[in-house]
Amino acid sequence: MVAGAFLSGHMGDSDTMSQVATIFALSSAPGRAGVAVIRVSGPAAGAVLDALASPRPQPRTAALRRLRRSGSEEALDQALVLWLPGPGSFTGEDVAELHVHGGRAVVQTVLQAIGEVGGCRPAEPGEFARRAFENGKLDLTMAEGLADLIDAETEAQRKQALRQAGGALADLYGAWRSSLLEALALVEAAVDFSDEGDVGSATFVQAMPIVADLDAAIRAHLADDRRGEILREGFNVVLAGPPNVGKSSLLNALARREAAIVSEEAGTTRDVIEVRLDLDGIPVVIGDTAGIREASGAIEREGIRRTLARSREADLVLWLMDARSPDPNLPPELTDLADRTMWVSNKVDLNPDGGAREVPPDVVAVSALTGQGIDTLTRRLATIARDRIAPDEHPGLTQERHRRNLEDCRQALTDFLQGSPAQVELRAEDLRLAANALGRLTGRVDPEQVLGEIFGRFCIGK
Ligand code: GDP
Repeated sequence: MVAGAFLSGHMGDSDTMSQVATIFALSSAPGRAGVAVIRVSGPAAGAVLDALASPRPQPRTAALRRLRRSGSEEALDQALVLWLPGPGSFTGEDVAELHVHGGRAVVQTVLQAIGEVGGCRPAEPGEFARRAFENGKLDLTMAEGLADLIDAETEAQRKQALRQAGGALADLYGAWRSSLLEALALVEAAVDFSDEGDVGSATFVQAMPIVADLDAAIRAHLADDRRGEILREGFNVVLAGPPNVGKSSLLNALARREAAIVSEEAGTTRDVIEVRLDLDGIPVVIGDTAGIREASGAIEREGIRRTLARSREADLVLWLMDARSPDPNLPPELTDLADRTMWVSNKVDLNPDGGAREVPPDVVAVSALTGQGIDTLTRRLATIARDRIAPDEHPGLTQERHRRNLEDCRQALTDFLQGSPAQVELRAEDLRLAANALGRLTGRVDPEQVLGEIFGRFCIGK
């Protein structure tokens, strides 16, 4: 689907063009397991099989082999072995896969034996995916989708990542870039024929509707309310409210729930505690700025500053009140966030009517102590998060990097559409800039600075 190599010649530092290293790594999670998968990719992958697991199995057919060190008869393990010759493999290179028993000693000794085969070295993080990219098997959005798939914690995240890894964005952006290049060719023809009057203006005029359609499509794609990005990062909720109202207690109550994924993220000052909840497949991240208000003065002020800063970034503010004296008034710094605030009345065990008389009817009354109302609270959160993200089958952008490049592209298209057709060379340059922005998005154009960022996110062996 993604045709042609995006780049060539990007080898690891120690590799040269003439001698590409064969890389190997444990590709499954480290630790004890039933099975561990060791992957080898590069020109010596076949030699690894010949040394450790001969005879080499038929391509793409699993075979059971006694593994041994080259030149020795002693068995290292009994393994299921696959031979996946390039270019039809994940990396596009020759690949061997060894499904060994997942014990530490087994994995260690097999890795060691592979390292003894000439031309083999351990893989760096993300190196398999990077080679797949360099060999034109993946574009950058697909590689990002793959990393997201590995990180996906909930159903909706998994679906979004799988779609992106499968090339939904690559196809969309690739098609847009093709139309752009078609328009650019027409405008370049107009440059060539500019001294022949009508011919030049005729080809220029043909480019206009192509660019206008593209401009409209990109605008619609960008007007997504950040849905894909929020789904990828998690719907961000911040707990706010006066001291002692029960914010930490509520967070703890949520962390003990089945839906909780991660409980604590300790910073240097232990300033942010986060609970990630999987609510009907939507990741919801609830954060509290805790442990910073025991002291007064400077530390207290810093705590308040951080709570306010976090509230501004949040998708939803959960404003906690004490059920005995509920005060729904937000502090002046937060009043403009009222349309994304949810009011919760805590300690309802101390005041059974939850202060219902004093607060609006849609306030959720809970007790962090007894657990009362927590189910209602999480259901309400799930509805709000789902309404906000509204996951659907439509491929949407999922990262700030996508947005930035698409905005650059759209800006260049606007310059084209609003610029003077008489300055035809400037108009061609607008389209070149627009095409480059899409090229950066998929990795066709100068991706070097983003490569490290994207592939560095993978673990060793992925
Ligand atoms: P924070 O300062 O807002 O984080 O408040 P904490 O979570 O530290 O709670 C302050 C005090 O209120 C603690 O003594 C808690 O045990 C108590 N508390 C919190 N939630 C409840 C609740 O639902 N019921 C009762 N009775 N006490 C609570």
